[in-house]
Amino acid sequence: MKGAVALVTGGSRGIGAATALRLAREGADVVVTYREGKDAAEVVVRKIRESGVRGLAVRADAADAAEAAGTVRQAVEAFGRLDVLVNNAGVGVLGPLEDLALADVDRVLAVNVRGVFLTSQAAATVMTAGGRIITIGSCMAQRVPGPGGTLYAMSKSALIGMTKALARELGGRGITANIVHPGPIDTDMNPADGPYAAGQAELTVAGRFGTADEVAAMVAYLAGPEASYVTGTELSIDGGHAA
Ligand code: NDP
Repeated sequence: MKGAVALVTGGSRGIGAATALRLAREGADVVVTYREGKDAAEVVVRKIRESGVRGLAVRADAADAAEAAGTVRQAVEAFGRLDVLVNNAGVGVLGPLEDLALADVDRVLAVNVRGVFLTSQAAATVMTAGGRIITIGSCMAQRVPGPGGTLYAMSKSALIGMTKALARELGGRGITANIVHPGPIDTDMNPADGPYAAGQAELTVAGRFGTADEVAAMVAYLAGPEASYVTGTELSIDGGHAA
């Protein structure tokens, strides 16, 4: 991926950080966004640069329309082009239906759906042939194993339709769009030693949580030249959660 420029939203921690580092190891220059984790994002950038490529951290709240779209401009201003967008930033608000407030609905949809749409829209205007839009969905968009996931599953399901439509809309320009559905992945959002971890691991065939590096490897495949015939599709990396 030497010479390619990637933008990874929410790249300061978890799946986004692992993806940013993996793409850097593949040779891409990488811009990561964060909302609060400035120090963590700077650590990721330092590690990106250790791979011999350029790295940059940009503060941008995905819930803010202008900031979400503006990350693309900042990436192009910094590194001259944009080849890969990884829509990773997301929030997981789970809980009983009756406990979900309007503010929860607005925030989850703003970050998980509207921000993804606006960043993808901005990316599409600057990408050229070979461009890649990769969105992180969730196993919860395919199978909701219990109560409490209505809002989160709704937000992630919206991204499936967006991805398929983007593939149709941008395919003629040689740009692919795909969505990756992780199962339970050991991150701050969903720690493998958290109170609900055992139940989640049991729902998989593998019987364990996945790692952020495992998800990053699938994203790297989609971002690379070998995946030029893969578009408009859902790829699960969930230990068999949806089986
Ligand atoms: P983490 O909570 O570990 O990390 C979230 C990242 O997103 C951080 O870098 C955080 O930045 C950033 N972020 C959060 N909100 C915003 C915002 N409003 N604007 C910009 N950046 C933001 O999450 P994961 O790594 O676990 O999750 C990454 C993606 O994978 C999400 O979309 C999530 O829904 C999805 N996913 C995760 C699964 C799991 O089991 N972990 C399973 C299935 C899907 P900061 O540090 O600044 O807060």
